[in-house]
Amino acid sequence: MEYPIKDNIAKRVTAMNQRVEEIRSKDLYFYNQTIEELRGGSRVLVNGREMGMYASYSYLGLVGHPKINQAAQKAIEKYGTGTHGVRTLAGSLKIHQELEETIASFKHAEAAITFTSGYVTNLTVVSTLVGRGDYVISDKLNHASIVDGCLMSGAKFLRFPHNDMTALEQRLQQVPDGFAKLVITDAVFSMDGDLINFPKVVELCRKYKAWLMIDEAHSVGVLGEKGTGIEEYFNMPNTIDIKMGTLSKTIPSVGGYVAGSKDLINYLRHASRAYIFSAALPPAQAAAAKTAFEVILEEPWRIQKLRANTTQFINGLRARGFDTMLTETAIVPVLCGSDEAAFSMTRVAQRNGVFVLPVVSPAVPPGLSRLRATVTAAHEPQEIEQAMDIIEKAGWEVGVLQK
Ligand SMILES: *Cc1c(COP(=O)(O)O)cnc(C)c1O
Repeated sequence: MEYPIKDNIAKRVTAMNQRVEEIRSKDLYFYNQTIEELRGGSRVLVNGREMGMYASYSYLGLVGHPKINQAAQKAIEKYGTGTHGVRTLAGSLKIHQELEETIASFKHAEAAITFTSGYVTNLTVVSTLVGRGDYVISDKLNHASIVDGCLMSGAKFLRFPHNDMTALEQRLQQVPDGFAKLVITDAVFSMDGDLINFPKVVELCRKYKAWLMIDEAHSVGVLGEKGTGIEEYFNMPNTIDIKMGTLSKTIPSVGGYVAGSKDLINYLRHASRAYIFSAALPPAQAAAAKTAFEVILEEPWRIQKLRANTTQFINGLRARGFDTMLTETAIVPVLCGSDEAAFSMTRVAQRNGVFVLPVVSPAVPPGLSRLRATVTAAHEPQEIEQAMDIIEKAGWEVGVLQK
C-alpha cells in the first residue's frame, strides 16, 4: 500500500511487509501459526491437524500439570484476576511474597524479585545496575533482551566472541581501574543449545572483581540433577551474583526474576523502573510459577526423562547426518544453511506432522539458518524416533542431507 508519508519509517514498514509477503507467496511462512489445542505435552492441533510438538520451551512438560493448574485456579478464587497496580503501592500480594521466597530457596539465594517478563527483567536489571561511567561485558550470542538492556543502560558495552575466554579476559583488562564492571551471559545459549564456559567465567570475574549475571532461561529444569541450574551442574554453589531467569519456559507461567543477596534485591525493589512503574504479575500466574518450582523438586523423574530424550534426539539427528552444532541440551539446532533451506525444511517437516520452526538471519548469522528443534520430558522415545525420521526425510528432499 501507499503511505502518505515517505520517510524511513514508511520504508522500513514496506520492506518488512514485502519480505513477509514474498515468503508467504512461496508457501514458506510458518511463523505466528495458531495452536488450537494442546494434546498432552507432546502434541498440538494446528490448522485442524495434529502434530508432534518440537518447538516448545516447556522442557519438563509442565504446561497443563494438574497441580499447577489447580494452584492458578485457587489464586483466582482468592485474589481475582488482576492486581491493584504496581508492587510498590497496592500491588504486592501474599502470593508474590510466597513466589519470591520459593524462587530464593530454589536458587539458593537470600532473596528474589519478580517482574512481568524475562525480557523486561533483563532490560530493567542491567540498566539499573550499570549506567554511564560503568562497563558491561556480554557474550556475542547473548539473548536480545540482554543486548537491549546493555544498550539502554548507557554503560560502555563491550562484547566478546561467543565463549572466547581469552577475549573475555582482554575485555576485562581493557576496563580502567576503579570502574564498575558487570559480566553477563546466558547459561545455555538460546539458539545453539551450548553452555557458557562457566568455571572460567567465574574465575575471571573473581580475578578482575567484576559482578557476574547469568541468564538461566534455558537451564532451569534442564541443568543439574535437581534442575536448579548451572551452579548445580558445575557443583559451584554461590558463585553467581545476579541469578536471572524467566517464568515462561520450564516454569509454565509468565514473568521473570532475579535471585541474589538481600541487599541487591532490596536495591532493585527501590531502583528498577520496571518494578516501580509497571503493574504486578497477575495472581494466577504467580501461583502457577510458585507451584511449578515445587513440582520440579517433587518430580525429579522429569529431569531424568528430559536428559534421556535429549541424548536420543541429539545422537539420532547426528547419526542421520545432520549438523547439530555444539548443543548439549534440549535446544537442538538442525543446521540448514540458507534461510530458504530452513523454510523448506520447516514446510516438509510440518506437512508430515512435526511442528518445528526455523530460525533465520538476523537472529542467527547468515548461512547458519536452522531448524531450532526442542525436545521435552513430555515426549516418548518412539515419538522422537518418528519425528527424527520425518526430519531426515525432509533433509533428503530439501537437499540439506546429501549422499
Ligand atoms: C526467552 C528468553 C528471555 C525472555 O524471557 P521472556 O519471559 O520470554 O520474556 C530472556 N533470556 C533468554 C536467554 C531467553 O531465552
